Amino acid sequence: MGGKNGLQDRVVVISGGARGIGLATARAFAERGARVAIGDIDAGLAGREAAGFGGLGAPLDVRDRDSFRGFVARARSELGPVDLLVNNAGIMPTGRFHEADPGLMDTQIDINLRGVIHGMQAVLPDMLERGAGHVINVASLAGRFALPGLAVYCATKYAVVGLTESAAAEYRDSGISFSAIMPAKVRTDLAAGTDDADTGIPTVNPEDVASAIVRTALKPELFVAVPRFMENASAFYRLLPGSLTTLGRRLIRDDRVLHRLDRQARAHYDQRLAALSSR
Ligand code: NAD
Repeated sequence: MGGKNGLQDRVVVISGGARGIGLATARAFAERGARVAIGDIDAGLAGREAAGFGGLGAPLDVRDRDSFRGFVARARSELGPVDLLVNNAGIMPTGRFHEADPGLMDTQIDINLRGVIHGMQAVLPDMLERGAGHVINVASLAGRFALPGLAVYCATKYAVVGLTESAAAEYRDSGISFSAIMPAKVRTDLAAGTDDADTGIPTVNPEDVASAIVRTALKPELFVAVPRFMENASAFYRLLPGSLTTLGRRLIRDDRVLHRLDRQARAHYDQRLAALSSR
């Protein structure tokens, strides 16, 4: 999607676009003249938010392959062939790994990993036929640097990083680009109640991630950390010997998700997760 006005009239489809990073991204693309469709499990909210930026808001459950196909088909018929898919929907339950609720754990894998696969498989046949397109998967720095209290979340994000890299290699001559966005902590409901005092890990706004996604759409790159310098920081970390990484982890109290979570501040998000898991 290069060029000066590369986003004008481009069709952008975003999963989990009713809130947080997805919504900020939808608005950023719409401001640049793109035709934007957001799909969300919270269909009512998606419809209301899409009306605000002149896009399409539709029901979508990324866990369901047919739901994703239907959403993409609707976007195609109402807006045109899909130029860009932003696979953004994701959830982040927290807690001790051995005590994880089995239902919620499955839901997390279904949304964070299967959902991304469903999205890619829904858009790829058409993109391959056209010899053009871009898939941007919203992973996380937790897909590069794993934290205690988030074992399954990190597993899904590492998986999305690998999935993106593999697809990029497989389809390198197809005209389709693939990118994995790896944000640090972002001020959204998903991060509610997590403590970020003195971590050394920066916290950014959803609009910062949206800007990085728009930049990536205009100039595709495989891996994009937000903020950008965290890409080098995570690469540097990998070069350190084990004893130093353990010391570093203790210094930044990497286990704060387990021990310093404000459950009250997170109650609303936890309720949302429980409702999702029972659907
Ligand atoms: P959010 O909770 O604010 O928004 C997520 C949206 O996804 C919600 O509108 C929700 O209804 C929707 N959703 C959930 N399950 C769905 C399903 N089955 N089908 C369709 N939509 C569904 O969260 P966010 O922080 O904006 O997260 C967006 C992405 O960014 C996630 O993949 C998350 O892992 C990733 N991320 C977030 C952070 C952070 O700190 N917030 C950091 C790095 C990466």
